[in-house]
Amino acid sequence: MLRDGFYETTLKAVPNAAHITLAKLEKEGLLQSVITQNIDNLHTKAGSKTVYEIHGNAQRLFCMKDNSKYSVKDFNLKTAPRCKICNAILKPDFVFFGEMLPEHDLTMAIKASTLCEVMIVIGSTGTVYPAASLPIEAKRHNATIIEINPTPSTFTNSITDIFIPLKAAEAMTEIIKNLV
Ligand SMILES: [Zn+2]
Repeated sequence: MLRDGFYETTLKAVPNAAHITLAKLEKEGLLQSVITQNIDNLHTKAGSKTVYEIHGNAQRLFCMKDNSKYSVKDFNLKTAPRCKICNAILKPDFVFFGEMLPEHDLTMAIKASTLCEVMIVIGSTGTVYPAASLPIEAKRHNATIIEINPTPSTFTNSITDIFIPLKAAEAMTEIIKNLV
């Protein structure tokens, strides 16, 4: 199911300048939340507190029987990890193709999208739904859409107000220089 070394690789991955900048903006009160399709836990690792992970998080395991959650780090994955409450085999807490998205995070992400004044869309192709509908939802509620993307996406000529054709880390480094 998972490539050899998958967990080793994701446990070792470190946040880049974009992750760190988003965490700083939140700390300064300039950013309310991060909505991510990534499952690598790097926003939390960088210090972001309000993170809606609409495709789940590969650093967590969960029990399908009682919904208890665990950190991957607490298990030796040489044998199948088991729930400490009911002993069922735990499942990785991220979304596989065709599965339901995490309801709580998705609901919160939609709410945040309808309430925000500005949405920064970073490196999204705009083709994976329902994630791709969130900037459209924000725009419908009069948010300004800032898009950071090295190449244009489906958003660029439709809903984007400000297009910054850079990689996430470069763009966010410039933005924080001017804000904080
Ligand atoms: Zn259980």
